[in-house]
Amino acid sequence: MLTTSTHPRLCDLGEMKSDSLLALIALANADTREHKIDVGVGVYKDGSGATPILRSIKAAERLLLDRQQTKSYLGGRGDNVFPRLIGEVLLGPHAGDERIDGLQTPGGCGALSLAFKLIFAANPKARVLVGMPTWPNHQPIVGGVGLAIEAYDYYDRDARTIRFDAMLAALAAASPGDVVLLHGCCHNPTGADLDAAQWAEVTRLIVERRLLPVVDIAYQGLGDGLDEDAAGLRGILDACDEVLVAQSCDKNFGVYRDRVGSLFVKTGSAEATARAMAHVLQIAREMWSMPPDHGAAAVRIVLEEPELRADWLAELGEMRGRIQAVRAQIAAAHPALAYIADQKGMFSMLPLTRDQVRRLRDDHAIYMADSGRFNVLGLADEAVDRFTAAIVGVLG
Ligand code: PLP
Repeated sequence: MLTTSTHPRLCDLGEMKSDSLLALIALANADTREHKIDVGVGVYKDGSGATPILRSIKAAERLLLDRQQTKSYLGGRGDNVFPRLIGEVLLGPHAGDERIDGLQTPGGCGALSLAFKLIFAANPKARVLVGMPTWPNHQPIVGGVGLAIEAYDYYDRDARTIRFDAMLAALAAASPGDVVLLHGCCHNPTGADLDAAQWAEVTRLIVERRLLPVVDIAYQGLGDGLDEDAAGLRGILDACDEVLVAQSCDKNFGVYRDRVGSLFVKTGSAEATARAMAHVLQIAREMWSMPPDHGAAAVRIVLEEPELRADWLAELGEMRGRIQAVRAQIAAAHPALAYIADQKGMFSMLPLTRDQVRRLRDDHAIYMADSGRFNVLGLADEAVDRFTAAIVGVLG
């Protein structure tokens, strides 16, 4: 059993909470210095610092405008073709497994809320193991449902590595039926992902301890590639009877405000999955009745039209390439930043004190969370050198 005396609690995460992202965005917006750099907000920016609509999505939206004949209700599942197509991208060889079913949700947040409400309906006493630090919205989503969170240390800020022993200890001490929340790839906020051997070990423990994995995957394709980023999840699907997967298209299709995501449910049989999905639909009915259509309809067209799909893959490759290039550039600036090159996705944490973060804000108009979490892509090409020079300056 995990006990509160041996494991940190979420309330230990003052540094992440003290400066909420919204307050940070407001502060950055109010700063009139022209050279300001906002690496707090989590959206992709291209070399010029813009967050453009992807070409493939723009083209799909034009087709959608032409083709759409009605805006009549679609139903609680949303569009049925969308989860099938995104399921192929996400689940790979598991797509088509009759024990897995999926539905459209308003973003990854909607999928996570559904997943945890379903868990609460099945087992209100389940505890949810969450590695810290994590994406700040996990706590309100899991806690808001009424489930208890069991926090463990996932990341060693000083060593800049995963605290894998602590993770294994937390899993080994969990009770059957407890839930393990895992980041599928591009861990937010640390950028520190499990490697293949670590995924295998975690998967083995999940099976051994009869735990329920919930995989949150919001950045597929922005780490090493679509299949590479889903490999851990697919290993879990190979080994586990029951799995929930909360997926988001908001980053990898750049449709943030359109709120596009899906939830996939796997149980041991097609019948049990159908029963679980009936609960999922009822919960969705209470929360949003039906998901918004526009963004998912555009994503569906991108995946259906070979030319648009090829262009999306190229655009995703460009985004991934830029992430890797900016990471390499920052890492090369100082030995204390070398680890940045090995981490994945949009976020990493800088080895800065709260005071150093303040100095960056006051002296250089650089905005990031007090924890030192920053969006690698918050930097336009021209800002990367200025940013790294300022960081190196405060590191001394
Ligand atoms: N999960 C993680 C780890 C995230 O970082 C995000 C978004 O930042 C989400 C889920 C939810 O994404 P969405 O905007 O699709 O709700």
